[in-house]
Amino acid sequence: MSVPAVSFEFFPPKSLQGSFRLWESVRALAPLAPEWVSVTYGAGGSTRKLTREAVAAIGGEFGLRTAGHLTCVDASREETLEVAEGFRAAGVTDIVALRGDPPEGADAFRPHPDGFRDSVELVGALADRGFRVRVGAYPDPHPEARSADADVAWLKRKIDAGACEAVTQFFFDPEVFLRFRDRCAAAGIAAPIVPGLLPVENWGKTRSFAARCGAVIPDDLAIAFDVAERDGRADLFAVAQAAELADRLVEEGCGHLHFYTLNRPDLTRDVCAALGRVPAAPLSAVA
Ligand code: FAD
Repeated sequence: MSVPAVSFEFFPPKSLQGSFRLWESVRALAPLAPEWVSVTYGAGGSTRKLTREAVAAIGGEFGLRTAGHLTCVDASREETLEVAEGFRAAGVTDIVALRGDPPEGADAFRPHPDGFRDSVELVGALADRGFRVRVGAYPDPHPEARSADADVAWLKRKIDAGACEAVTQFFFDPEVFLRFRDRCAAAGIAAPIVPGLLPVENWGKTRSFAARCGAVIPDDLAIAFDVAERDGRADLFAVAQAAELADRLVEEGCGHLHFYTLNRPDLTRDVCAALGRVPAAPLSAVA
């Protein structure tokens, strides 16, 4: 079996301790030679400055291809594009472009009066300015999707607006991803669809996050995680579960896997090791 390419998502720090954790996470995973890494953009644009500083530092210090995430929430077009140009000024021209979730307390996304109305508009504006744009995709359809087919049709519009690649929300059933990939191909989407994997660090939080973002947890998996937690073996089970999922995806031709690291590198590193993705340098030289 071939060894897949990988990419890693981090989030920007909110405290000094968080900065150390981010730094250690990147340091632990950089030796796996990811294709690229990315830094998220806090809900409602709350981490604007921190995201920029983090992408600049990671790109500069580790020499990794780095992408900044960017959303349309609560900002005018001018402000949003200013953030993008801030990324460029820091040497970062890759952007994961998203509409973003509604701010805390709001029931639905409402565009800023002078802002981008949706992700398609944002993608188009960034692509026109020469950014390399990736977008989100949803194997378990997005909660706001009218139907699974409408979700794929919307993804096609984002690709047609200039995105080069889509990265999926996390999911647990490989068949869900494979059926989604088939629907994308049937809809004429030729851009790569990179599966996003979440090695489960915290089962309780994962369950509530999955419920919010529409990721379906198969019943047998929920039971298995509950049992592993009860027995104090949750980490072990999380690595085995993510490695098995990844293995099946690679077997089905996925040459690139994206990991949601949550700035906790250990599980991701173990899953990568199970797939044969190991540091190029001897272990003694690796964090
Ligand atoms: P959108 O393109 O906005 O669409 C979501 C779904 O809604 C579509 O699939 C479609 O079914 C439907 N839809 C939306 N608009 C229309 C329309 N006009 N017509 C028809 N259907 C429509 N959030 C953050 O705040 N910060 C981040 O850094 C961040 N990073 C992410 C990274 C990845 C890889 C993913 C998958 C998600 C990320 N998110 C992030 C979450 C994301 O912001 C939410 O899922 C948000 O609700 C949708 O944004 P989107 O751009 O992915 O989807």
